[in-house]
Amino acid sequence: MNPLELKVKELFFADVGTADNYEDRFDADLFAEFELTAPIQFKAKFVRVKEGIALNIDSIQTKMKVTCVRCQKSISWPLKIEGDEEWFYWEKGHEPEKSEEEIMFVEMRNWSVNLREPIREEILLALPIAPRCAKKCIEFKEAEEPETKPLGEKLRNSLANPRRSSKIHPR
Ligand SMILES: [Zn+2]
Repeated sequence: MNPLELKVKELFFADVGTADNYEDRFDADLFAEFELTAPIQFKAKFVRVKEGIALNIDSIQTKMKVTCVRCQKSISWPLKIEGDEEWFYWEKGHEPEKSEEEIMFVEMRNWSVNLREPIREEILLALPIAPRCAKKCIEFKEAEEPETKPLGEKLRNSLANPRRSSKIHPR
């Protein structure tokens, strides 16, 4: 059985407004398109709405392998996503006519929703634009600079030099 597939039959028969808290941990290799280095901690609330099931995401936490834009080293980047909402509609006709996002449906054959797509989207939105090491890690071009200045001054100059970071998107 697919661990990302959840049964929502009870919610279908429940009153509108009924909420169900849900917490789980998913293996990183369920999302092989990302280089996740930790399992995904998932906390959400499923709410019965007239049109389907609203998925209120409390938090999604994991870690991802990314490359530091300054030193090109591989680093483990913590991802913490909080407070978003996605909807699964019962069937065609209940969904909004226009939506910029892909519309998701409850799989009525087995009363299930698949969490793969909403989690994948949330991770995509949370990808860091310009990940950097937590500590200062700029590589100095020792060979190109004469060794006349003390290291402390070189360090300050390097950090203050805007050319070094002109291609880095500001955070
Ligand atoms: Zn770095």
